Amino acid sequence: MNLSMSRRAMLRGALVAGAGAVLAPTLLAGTAQAYTWSRTLKQGMNGADVTELQIRVAGWAASSASQTRVSVDGDFGPGTDAAVKRFQAAYGLLVDGEVGANTQAKLNSLEQSDGSTTHFNFSDFTDRVSGTFNGGKVSAATAKENARRCMYKLEALRKKLGDKPITVNSGFRSIQHNADIGGASDSMHLYGTAADLDVPGVANKTVYEKAETCGFSGLETYNTDHQHVDSRADLGRAWWWENGTV
Ligand code: ZN
Repeated sequence: MNLSMSRRAMLRGALVAGAGAVLAPTLLAGTAQAYTWSRTLKQGMNGADVTELQIRVAGWAASSASQTRVSVDGDFGPGTDAAVKRFQAAYGLLVDGEVGANTQAKLNSLEQSDGSTTHFNFSDFTDRVSGTFNGGKVSAATAKENARRCMYKLEALRKKLGDKPITVNSGFRSIQHNADIGGASDSMHLYGTAADLDVPGVANKTVYEKAETCGFSGLETYNTDHQHVDSRADLGRAWWWENGTV
């Protein structure tokens, strides 16, 4: 979805009306665009809109296999700048590290009105038994937010794989469901930050290799029938790539 003309007009109106005032970015549920950017973002800035930007470019953490991630801390530093530039290059935008109208429009084009991303739905990530984000090790709201953050990394992974569709076999799991299927007792699936992927026509090893550039801090072995990815470092855990750096 592109920023509609009416939306652009609204945004301009808001900017004019808010001249001199601090404009807080807003999450507008149920509108055509779930997020409104109110200023051009660049290195040195900070705020809630920078946090949202970091979530959206987190999958562009590195250009080659690297245990590095974009900190989601609201401070636009060098890591965020580098990720923005990789995002801009990947999508054919001017590579200047500044998040102005064109880059904001591209970021918004990857978003659905409910806050999920273009190629992934929240229903891809809900517990397979209950169909909800309830019953995990964090609140349902936190699990859903972790799933949303995972989606943006998966959008980057999908792009790097040549726009190959990615199927999420398992996302969030309740403690009960995870136990029933023999999942690890402190599985990242219980927090909503993990996803088990199947990319038809692409070897797991290739998925693993691309995931090594997307800021995923947990990668289980590619020698299985799916590729597990998670963001455990965002939860304060140590990095864990089961096959090491490939
Ligand atoms: Zn898994």
